[in-house]
Amino acid sequence: MTQQTCFTCCCWIQTRNPSKKRLAVIIEQIRASSLEYGEFSYDLSLYAGVAIGEEREKALLAMQSIEHTYHTDIAFYNHDMHNAVRKKNSIESQMYPALQNKEFKLFLQPKFGMKNEGLVGAEALVRWQNPDGSYRYPNEFIPLFEENGFCLKLDLYMVERACEQIKAWKDAGLTPVPISVNQSKMLFSDLNYPDNLMQILNRYHVSPSLITLEILEGVATDNLELLNHQIEALHALGFRISMDDFGNGYSSLNMLYQLNIDELKLDRGFLRQVSKEDEERRYIILEQIVSFARKLGIATVAEGIETQEDEALIQALKCNFGQGYFYDKPMSAKEFG
Ligand code: C2E
Ligand code: MG
Ligand code: MG
Repeated sequence: MTQQTCFTCCCWIQTRNPSKKRLAVIIEQIRASSLEYGEFSYDLSLYAGVAIGEEREKALLAMQSIEHTYHTDIAFYNHDMHNAVRKKNSIESQMYPALQNKEFKLFLQPKFGMKNEGLVGAEALVRWQNPDGSYRYPNEFIPLFEENGFCLKLDLYMVERACEQIKAWKDAGLTPVPISVNQSKMLFSDLNYPDNLMQILNRYHVSPSLITLEILEGVATDNLELLNHQIEALHALGFRISMDDFGNGYSSLNMLYQLNIDELKLDRGFLRQVSKEDEERRYIILEQIVSFARKLGIATVAEGIETQEDEALIQALKCNFGQGYFYDKPMSAKEFG
């Protein structure tokens, strides 16, 4: 159990280094002691935010910047911290109006069959349109939305935009391709999630077989039982489940047999330039992953194909599908056709 208490300490210091030394001594002394409470003994640790000649709020900002880190225990306030908080507050104050004003746009990146099957689907990627028409990219806001829970709304909104697009294709007499939608992990802990999805799909008369739900492999480390239960419920409705960014982070081969997924997306990190000797090792690893997946009846998608060599590698590995700038960048639904 962790209990946190915050102290404010005012000292007469004028420069950074001596104050850092003084604090380091205090932190060391506190670490060396422990708190006895009845038969229990608690370890103590301290981390500190420092603002020289500034208000207490700025010291707090500095302290918050190292709250979840384990390698730093003293942080000095600087203007970047202030800017980061200002940016965060600004995004948070804009996100609900932006959703209402439909500023989050559906972009699509084509997905191709690696045996010359041509276009087999598309991935939905969100872009936030600014008033001047320019776009903000997911890495500027998705991590924050995952932290503050707004992804619960945005991800379902993107499912709705994908359904709207599929309906538009059907209305225009075109054969729709399946769309994969990124779904953040918090959705999977909501038991109403499958019903909520169906309500959206029914509104647009879209079959679940046209929607693939992409989840990040990190989801699997949390609550495997609940996740399997949800995957089962989503399969029963006809959705396909894809594991995104496999190989980036804490990939576990256990996950491949424990989770009943339909598709595995190999992280684009696998295609980054490597040295001659690493190339051979990379091939062996990728070959095995693709082979495991094939034997388990899981389709494989290579992300981030940027060159002809990348494509040749992916074809040699017998990956089923590929996506990347070599074919097309993500584009607006209108450009996609
Ligand atoms: P992702 O789902 O793995 O999507 C692939 C990312 O790689 C996209 O970045 C895409 O533009 C980029 N990409 C595609 N081909 C290439 C290539 O050949 N080279 C390189 N260098 N990059 C390529 P994007 O659109 O910036 O999205 C980043 C991430 O943000 C996505 O990664 C996904 O995890 C997340 N994301 C995007 N849209 C949504 C959304 O609606 N909801 C949620 N929860 N996350 C989203
Ligand atoms: Mg994805
Ligand atoms: Mg990915």
